[in-house]
Amino acid sequence: LFITFEGVEGAGKSTQIRLLAEQLEAEGHEVVVTREPGGAPIAERIRKLVLDPSVEDMGDRTEALLIAAARADHVDKLIRPALDAGKVVLCDRFVDSSLAYQGHARGLEVADVREVNKWAVDGVNADAVVLLRLDPREGLRRVEERAERNRAEARHSLTGKVFELPGTFTEQVAKDRMEAQGLDFHRKVARGFLDLARQDRRRYVVVDATADSDVVARQVRAGLNRWVPL
Ligand code: C5P
Repeated sequence: LFITFEGVEGAGKSTQIRLLAEQLEAEGHEVVVTREPGGAPIAERIRKLVLDPSVEDMGDRTEALLIAAARADHVDKLIRPALDAGKVVLCDRFVDSSLAYQGHARGLEVADVREVNKWAVDGVNADAVVLLRLDPREGLRRVEERAERNRAEARHSLTGKVFELPGTFTEQVAKDRMEAQGLDFHRKVARGFLDLARQDRRRYVVVDATADSDVVARQVRAGLNRWVPL
C-alpha cells in the first residue's frame, strides 16, 4: 500500500506522517517512511541541487525533469522494493506535488508534467493521497515560527554564542525560499492541490490541517479506513 502526503509548506506533512506511521505500526503493519525530492542516494543529491539557494535561475522544465529523475531513482531503489515486500510506504510528497508546483504554480502544462512523471514512476502510483489543506498564509507563519524556534534553540545550545545546529540551515532555507516565492505562488500551489483533489476524489483524502496535530491525525486515520480498515 502506497500512501502519499501533499500540501503547502507548513501544513504538517512530516508530523502527520510520523503520527500515522506510529499508529499503523501499533496496528501491526510494517511501515516505511520517506520523502521527496529525495528518499534514495541519487535522489537526495538531486534534492540538494534543486533546493540549493546558491543555484540561481533554474528553468522550470529543468526543475521538473530533475525532480522527475529523482523520483525515478526513489521508485527504483526504495518505493517499489518496499511495496513488493508488502510494506506500507508513506511518502512526503510525490507526483501530485510536481503537478501543483511545476504545473499549476510555475505554469508548465499540467498534462506535460503528468506525462513525464508517468514515465518516471514506471507504474508505481499512490493508492491514496492525503491532502493536508491549509491557508498558505498560515503555512508561511508556521514555517517562520519553526525557523525562529530553531534559531532560539541554537542560541541556547551554547553560552550566548549563535551556533548553527544541523537542522537550522534547512529550516532557515525553507523559510527564505518560501518568502522569496511569495504568497501568490503558494496560493497557486494550494489551488492546484484542490483542483487535483476534485478531479481524483477516489484517491484523495482531504483533511483540514488547521486544527491541532492530534485532531488532524485522527481525521487522517479515519480517512484512510477504506485502504487500511481499522
Ligand atoms: O516538502 P518539503 O518542504 O521538504 O519540500 C522541499 C521544497 O521543495 C519546498 O520548498 C517545495 O516547495 C519544493 N518542491 C518543489 N516542487 C516539487 C516538490 C517540492 O518546488 N515537486
